[in-house]
Amino acid sequence: MIRQRAGDILKLRIEPLKCICCGLCEVACGLNRDSVLTPMTSSIILHIEDKSDYFGLVLKSKSEGLVVARPEGTASGQQASGSSGPGAKPILLREPCDLCGGKPKCAKACPTGCISTEG
Ligand code: SF4
Ligand code: SF4
Repeated sequence: MIRQRAGDILKLRIEPLKCICCGLCEVACGLNRDSVLTPMTSSIILHIEDKSDYFGLVLKSKSEGLVVARPEGTASGQQASGSSGPGAKPILLREPCDLCGGKPKCAKACPTGCISTEG
């Protein structure tokens, strides 16, 4: 679980075991930033490793830096070395998550409830 705070009002909650690796959160975040369908600037990317059915998420947060959410748990301050595809532009160079100003687009786009809000 990842918790990203915006002040004391809203939190972004990510439960990696619910992720189906569809990539909609990446696209939604990029669309919110650039108004085009590209995940190249998104603050959240898929974390994919060369194992069957193994994937998670990487979020660039303001408070914790890079947060990697793998099936076995989450950790902050790590490199997104296992990411591929749209993560070609290093997430470290991107803008951190700003919670879309209070209405997280990734949570709205996620079909499984892997990303949700609380607070
Ligand atoms: S809350 Fe908004 S800025 Fe943060 S990862 Fe989701 S879509 Fe991107
Ligand atoms: S939209 Fe949800 S299910 Fe799809 S990749 Fe993102 S977190 Fe995973």
